[in-house]
Amino acid sequence: PSVRLVSGAAQGEDADTSIRPSHLAEFVGQSAARANLQVFIDAAKARGDALDHVLFVGPPGLGKTTLAQIVARELGVNFRATSGPVIAKAGDLAALLTNLEERDVLFIDEIHRMSPAVEEILYPAMEDFQLDLIIGEGPAARSVRIDLAKFTLVGATTRLGLLTTPLRDRFGIPVRLEFYTTEELERIVLRGARIHGIGMTPDGATEIARRSRGTPRIAGRLLRRVRDFAVVAGKSAIDRETADAALTRLDVDSIGLDALDMRYLTTISGSFGGGPVGIETIAAALSEPRDAIEEIVEPFLIQRGFVQRTPRGRLLTPHAFRHLGLAVPSGPEL
Ligand code: ADP
Repeated sequence: PSVRLVSGAAQGEDADTSIRPSHLAEFVGQSAARANLQVFIDAAKARGDALDHVLFVGPPGLGKTTLAQIVARELGVNFRATSGPVIAKAGDLAALLTNLEERDVLFIDEIHRMSPAVEEILYPAMEDFQLDLIIGEGPAARSVRIDLAKFTLVGATTRLGLLTTPLRDRFGIPVRLEFYTTEELERIVLRGARIHGIGMTPDGATEIARRSRGTPRIAGRLLRRVRDFAVVAGKSAIDRETADAALTRLDVDSIGLDALDMRYLTTISGSFGGGPVGIETIAAALSEPRDAIEEIVEPFLIQRGFVQRTPRGRLLTPHAFRHLGLAVPSGPEL
């Protein structure tokens, strides 16, 4: 798959965590999720008990990892992190679990990509804080039960539908993260600029925010790229004009769509008359993996009302035709 400036997925330079908020109060946006988490955290602390298991669901780059770290910090406990694909064997997870202290947070990113054998030992761990392990092989094999500290599992997934029902049911606190508004992203951009010592006018922040696809990780990345252009152009502050010139050169359009989004939209409008067309057909036409299209292209286009998922496939809306500068067809679908 192509590496995209406007992808929510983490890329090398995103590892810079200097603008990552460390307290709930500093975390911009997601107000419903934040308010609920605050209540559950306060209640758990008042009881002196571990927080119930939390599942964060939402597209990449919306702050799932950040919130998991904040939860641990607000609880005043250790934060341990791993991810579904990294846990190869049941023993790997057992090692992590047995090292946890009372009320610690264990964060498992991409939890939908855990293997079934690993998932199996997670169930009793989440429910009864016990591990059932088989030691040895053949006739000498025996099962041992190990008591675990009462911990909090924080899972994150971009694809709730890929989680097995028994796993999903074991999370007492499911939290769905939403795309951010332009106003929220403006605050994130201004805060990031302040931390990095980058001059930024309010309209410069608005321009970057509008083109960040509702995603803080993209806002941070666009901020760094626009800063490079501003430095080379000898500007002491990023204003709307500077941001627009830089982002236009980087092929990010006025609402944050890039070449891949455009190919997606023009393939459906041009080759398939606006749809409905099946996802497999679109993936083949674009030579991109279906997963990537479903995870990083479509969620934003659907949220913006450009595409609808129908039982017969993807359908472009009149809104999408207008954004492409095309006449809206007057077929039966539209
Ligand atoms: P996810 O785990 O959902 O992919 P992350 O938690 O890694 O997303 O966040 C991606 C980037 O966006 C991080 O650099 C983080 O600092 C930043 N970020 C996410 N949410 C916010 C927010 N509400 N305010 C400020 N920065 C944020």
